Amino acid sequence: MIITFERDHAQGDVSAVCDRIQATGELKSVVENGAPYTVVAVIGDINGRCETLIEQLGAMRGVAGVQRIGKKYQLAARKHPDQQTIVDVGHGVQIGGDRLAIVAGPCSIESEGQLRTIAQAVKNAGAHILRGGAFKPRTSPRDFQGLGEDGLRMLRDIGGEFGMPTQTEVMAPHQVDMVADHADILQIGTRNMQNYDLLKAVGQTRKPVVLKRGMSATFPEWLSAAEYILDGGNPHVVLCERGIRTFDSTMTRNTADVVAIPVLHGESHLPVMFDPSHAVGKRRHIADTALAGVAAGADALHLEVHHQPERALSDGDQSLLPEQFALLVQQMNIMREARTRCRTLRMGR
Ligand code: PEP
Ligand code: MN
Repeated sequence: MIITFERDHAQGDVSAVCDRIQATGELKSVVENGAPYTVVAVIGDINGRCETLIEQLGAMRGVAGVQRIGKKYQLAARKHPDQQTIVDVGHGVQIGGDRLAIVAGPCSIESEGQLRTIAQAVKNAGAHILRGGAFKPRTSPRDFQGLGEDGLRMLRDIGGEFGMPTQTEVMAPHQVDMVADHADILQIGTRNMQNYDLLKAVGQTRKPVVLKRGMSATFPEWLSAAEYILDGGNPHVVLCERGIRTFDSTMTRNTADVVAIPVLHGESHLPVMFDPSHAVGKRRHIADTALAGVAAGADALHLEVHHQPERALSDGDQSLLPEQFALLVQQMNIMREARTRCRTLRMGR
């Protein structure tokens, strides 16, 4: 880190800072007495756990600012260009590998019949992972809250019938073991991206975790949330862009931040999923947005599908009909292929 002093600092301020650094026993300081600013470079490593020290140094007399050099999210950060985490989700399906992974299913699990009909349709169309919410984070307590454990059992059984790994949301630390017993992938929703107790709890499992972006989260906040899971010893983390809140939500539910996909690939080795359904919120725009996500390099696409969206208990407006989904899968595979060809050209191979 680099510490910069106020122009009118006293000489004693610099030595007090250097003494504080020395006292860690692990860090060294190098002083550059200069015009117009005096700076101290701090050399050494305390395992990325220097947040408190940075804050304390910033509060010392005469200090104008402290700039960190390394990343706050050391485990999530990309260390070299070829580093790529591949998350194995079971049934031979991977996220982050050569193949585009497709997650599809209803927003909420409503009944066994509903889930089976949709699972059959998305499986036939080429989806790899079956999603469905059993614990639903709803804006109003009077909205459908999900079928809870009954829903989890339906998801497990029907995923098994179709040989598909399953993904479902977990909303609270006390639900983690139960959800992990029934599902292959734990989803952390946008509203819980910064629920640190929940992140720590899923970090204690070894289940794949899809970490959705908080609706107003910056990239460092999001990657720091991933760091909580990785820090617990669970390396199987997938980042999911699902749209962010901006000034304009008149025509779409959120703003689809497609640029997040290459930004994350540059910054992190974790695979990236893209969810146009929640980003856009309107059925008619979902296919084009999904294709943009594939073109931008998403490792996985996440889509809500319902055979009777007008009867859905949540997110019917943004649910694709099975035939729309089937066409989109074909288009996404073409787009993925085109992207691979474009990259080959760019790399001159
Ligand atoms: C969902 O996947 O159904 C969901 C509630 O997603 P999000 O957390 O992105 O709103
Ligand atoms: Mn939904």
